[in-house]
Amino acid sequence: MLLLIFSFSRAVVKCRLQENLQVQAYLVEIMLTSRKFLMAATLAIFLSFVPYRTLAQTDTPEPKPPADPQIAAALAKISAQRIQANIEKLVSFQTRLTLSAQDPDSIKAGHGIGAAREWIKSEFERYSRACGGCLEVKTDSFTENPMERIPKATVISNVYAVLKGTDPENAKRIVLVTGHYDSRNSDTFDTTGVAPGANDDASGTSVSLECARVLSQMKFPGTIIFLTVAGEEQGLNGSTHFAKMAKEQGWDIEAALNNDIVGGDRSPQQNPGVVRVFSEGIPLAATPAEVRRIENLGGENDSASRQLARYVAEVGRTYKTEAKPLLVFRLDRYLRGGDHISFNEQGFAAVRITEYREDYNHQHQNVREENGVQFGDLLKFVNFDYVAKVARVNAATLASLAAAPAPPGKVRLQTKELENNSTLTWEASPGSASYEVLWRDTASPEWEHARQVGNVTRTTLPMSKDNVIFAVRAVDGSGHRSLAVVPQPER
Ligand SMILES: [Zn+2]
Repeated sequence: MLLLIFSFSRAVVKCRLQENLQVQAYLVEIMLTSRKFLMAATLAIFLSFVPYRTLAQTDTPEPKPPADPQIAAALAKISAQRIQANIEKLVSFQTRLTLSAQDPDSIKAGHGIGAAREWIKSEFERYSRACGGCLEVKTDSFTENPMERIPKATVISNVYAVLKGTDPENAKRIVLVTGHYDSRNSDTFDTTGVAPGANDDASGTSVSLECARVLSQMKFPGTIIFLTVAGEEQGLNGSTHFAKMAKEQGWDIEAALNNDIVGGDRSPQQNPGVVRVFSEGIPLAATPAEVRRIENLGGENDSASRQLARYVAEVGRTYKTEAKPLLVFRLDRYLRGGDHISFNEQGFAAVRITEYREDYNHQHQNVREENGVQFGDLLKFVNFDYVAKVARVNAATLASLAAAPAPPGKVRLQTKELENNSTLTWEASPGSASYEVLWRDTASPEWEHARQVGNVTRTTLPMSKDNVIFAVRAVDGSGHRSLAVVPQPER
């Protein structure tokens, strides 16, 4: 009997040391119900002789959030046929150059960017009618003064739909998806020549539209914005205006997903099972002092945009999207840009999502045939099934984030003492049921370990902060994860 009691207390203490709290609670519970005492005693003897390492290893599984059946059901509703119809409609306006016609007659005739803008607006309004007016459809119009690619003052309009969050506290948090609906051919000043822009970027516009159609049938605590912008090809004018407006008005944009060229161009070398996710390393918005601090701490690979990119990759593994996100740790392709940069410049986390392999004969080219080679951004090169896969990656990310609690605030790593344990603290996030500490080797691209630490705001882990990178994220009662936050040191 003495041996039993000794083994028992040793096992309980060991579980506490290992933070294996569930096993500890189970042991205490069965000890108190004496009927199961024998079973508890057996388990206790077993545990007291299990080597420390074995327990430690089973305590740190890799991060693997559960799939939410409602989100999975929504993803199944994303339709390649719908996406095809939307891209065909956008191509039918002949050109969507930002400088093209937007007078009432051209809109009526279905020519030019004005007609495209009105059609996108009417689509969002149609989705809203189908959900009892759940979407607020808005236009952000402004006049851009002449500049390099804008010869005369031009009205530019962003069209967007807001699915307001249902929880007053969480509704302030915004996740956003965007694509640019303007197009161009070889000449950025050609206001009448054909510029189908089927891939660049009717595909991204159709991702925003399809996410709006499907996700507006659901309710989320956080807010989702489905955005389509113009002026991208003239110099990111639409997204710059929108991101600045968001910054000035203090919007809490937690994530912006920019889909540009997601048509899965049907060239033989294309990989229709992969989609690239580009993210900034050192934030474009960081001040020189912040850049120095990031370099000092080895945080070059841990911007908020990079946490968003990792989140997209993780969601891609949780749900059957059939397009595996490939993380590219680079702001954008060499010497090229896109609308995510406008959000990055205002300090928001944003990534660029683009097909695996681009065909440059099909971008920014006049439609023509030369020596048997077809040039131009034509419908026939777009793989609508692929766009649907990319739309699922987006919808899964938007839904997961809008369902999740806010990321924990003020995440800090205690550095007052020189020690080999690491103590993390943070501020509670409304709506969260528990927190998860993530970590990885400093040389690893993605989070490798996760530990559930319960509903606390402080935890100590038996490993050195100098050897790994930590982050904390909030988890709600159904297992939705917030974005991960890497701690700042605190003395
Ligand atoms: Zn583009």
